Amino acid sequence: MGRVWRLGLVGHPIGKSLSPAMHEAALAALGLEGSYERFDRVEPEGVHAVLQAVRAGVLDGVNVTLPHKRVAALACDRLDGVASRLGVVNTVRCEGADLIGYNTDVPGLVGAVRDGWRTDARGPALVIGAGGAAYAAVEAARDLGASDIRIWNRTRARAEAMAAVVGGEVYDDVHAAAHAVTLLLQASSHGMDLVGEEAREALAFAREVVQATAATARVVDLVYRPRPTVWVQAATAEGREGRDGLGMLVHQAACAFANWTGQEAPVEVMRRAAEGP
Ligand code: NAP
Repeated sequence: MGRVWRLGLVGHPIGKSLSPAMHEAALAALGLEGSYERFDRVEPEGVHAVLQAVRAGVLDGVNVTLPHKRVAALACDRLDGVASRLGVVNTVRCEGADLIGYNTDVPGLVGAVRDGWRTDARGPALVIGAGGAAYAAVEAARDLGASDIRIWNRTRARAEAMAAVVGGEVYDDVHAAAHAVTLLLQASSHGMDLVGEEAREALAFAREVVQATAATARVVDLVYRPRPTVWVQAATAEGREGRDGLGMLVHQAACAFANWTGQEAPVEVMRRAAEGP
């Protein structure tokens, strides 16, 4: 009998996570036996127990999601470059006796942008937000070759704290920040789950911001549901190319899968699994 892969996800809440569907589809497509389980854990102790199972070889690897990405970074013995710069880990595996932490959100976003457009960003980029996703977006904008990185967040102090870690220039005015950018990475929760008047206001705000970008700008909304997201609607309405965050979700999962199994991930199979029937 061949190897049986035991993978999983620890976080809370994770009931609606698309990761099990993506990873189980990838295992099946490559003819690998195994499973990807949900470990819904609220307390850090619960996360430590799951990581111990990775160290003991009971699990071959886990993804870590909110709110435990920093706890996981502290629990690892070694971190790869991006995970160590950000202090945030979303993928863990064991090598010898050491737990190694990775951050696949950054290569995931880079992969999604390249996959969507096949070229890198050359002009200025704007990152909206200052939460965990925005840290990854700043790193990704740099990896994509942005000439300069501008940051705008609803709460300026958080943007400043982020820029102190990952770099970038913080703007007060979002329209000035968006002026002539060729890449807009919308990495905040703005526009998520809104209906009625709130949804209309969010779209009007997003359209004004997108209007200020270069006519050739590419807009990536890291939010991925419900589709079409507010910022993808705004991009389309303003004649820009827009993509939602599903591509990033798929590519970060593909990076994690390749990392654990050592095999090239079947990206299109994973995308179909994430998109659902
Ligand atoms: P987070 O750490 O909670 O940060 C939330 C960010 O959104 C903060 O910058 C916050 O600004 C801002 N925000 C919240 N409500 C807002 C509003 N009404 N108007 C303007 N800004 C608002 O969350 P996160 O982990 O960074 O995630 C942010 C988004 O990215 C989520 O929608 C998440 O689903 C998505 N995401 C997608 C992927 C993917 O693979 N596609 C990966 C990670 C995250 P303040 O600082 O002012 O509160």
